[in-house]
Amino acid sequence: MIATWTPHVSLGGDIVVHPFNSTVSSNGELKKGTATAVQIHNTVEPDINFDKESLQYEANSSESMVAKLPEMPGLPFPLMQRAILTPEMGENLNLVLENIAVREPDHGEAVIQILYTGICRSDASFSVGPGSGYPKQNHIAGHEGIGRVVKSHDPFIIGRTVGIRYLGKSCGFCIYCIRGLFTSCPSQLNVPKHITGTFQEYATVPISCLVPLPDALLQGDVDLAFCTAALCSGSTALVSVRAAKASLGDVVIVVGVAGAIGHLTGAIAKEVFGARVIGIDLKSKIDEIQSQDYGDYIDILLGAPETDMGDAWLSFHSMLMQSCEKLRRNHGVRRAAEAVIVASSSFSAFQRLDEYVCDGGRIVCVG
Ligand SMILES: [Zn+2]
Ligand SMILES: [Zn+2]
Repeated sequence: MIATWTPHVSLGGDIVVHPFNSTVSSNGELKKGTATAVQIHNTVEPDINFDKESLQYEANSSESMVAKLPEMPGLPFPLMQRAILTPEMGENLNLVLENIAVREPDHGEAVIQILYTGICRSDASFSVGPGSGYPKQNHIAGHEGIGRVVKSHDPFIIGRTVGIRYLGKSCGFCIYCIRGLFTSCPSQLNVPKHITGTFQEYATVPISCLVPLPDALLQGDVDLAFCTAALCSGSTALVSVRAAKASLGDVVIVVGVAGAIGHLTGAIAKEVFGARVIGIDLKSKIDEIQSQDYGDYIDILLGAPETDMGDAWLSFHSMLMQSCEKLRRNHGVRRAAEAVIVASSSFSAFQRLDEYVCDGGRIVCVG
């Protein structure tokens, strides 16, 4: 979600693609925000009448209990659905709206009625190529879906509101999995590479992709459209702040703060971890932020240095040190930040990072 992406697709019916930096509320109102959402106006209302008591138990000869499950529990859904797909992967983005069949779930899978899906910048790159491992035809992108389980062999998840996460499965025993780097597992299955994506009304996916949304979230007044960003850029931001070991009162610099990941990184560092945040980005990008209220994710906003050499760099570095001092309210030893998190892909963002942090500081590069 770093750049504007307008899909080359003619949209009909009541699937609506909203532009970058905006999202929709449940009453259809367009709001400013970090999430870009495709709102799919599904009309199938949940009709949860599956009853746990309907399971019949009986003792077998060894006195263990055997459950007789209903054939395949579920809520009503159509045989056909609308999906935004790439008929033939090529060098250019080529997305079309088509009617396709809803796939029945296998064991370990579930059919999810998609309520919202975010559009991530990565979906554009997932839809051209084909990249290694991607299907060449009829590829469905999208990896920030929120929806409702409508069919599964597992009766206890029917009706649950869930998120569909990028990482569908990892092996659990390779060197990366053992080190907790599950997204680097060579045997991983992810959405939308190996598993069909969320740009469709009903996605059939492995249950291991699903993240049940907390009841507190569903019962509150949080707009679920905003939560789609938590499934990609939000979780990336959280992992980066954790890696930076940000704690109360630390000064954390976020480079690339105008992008979606940078924005959420600043917000999480400040509002959740209690850090003080210096946001940095190119001058052309911070002009827009300066005209807004940015206090919930940045304490001090600085323009990126034009160069990492000479007086321009010295002047920038001096401003950086003054900002750290100001955020510490002149307490303690004069020093640079405790951590810098780079959420930008431009080469210049990675220069002289060691001078952003104090001794023992952390440098975290996202992506
Ligand atoms: Zn993404
Ligand atoms: Zn693994």
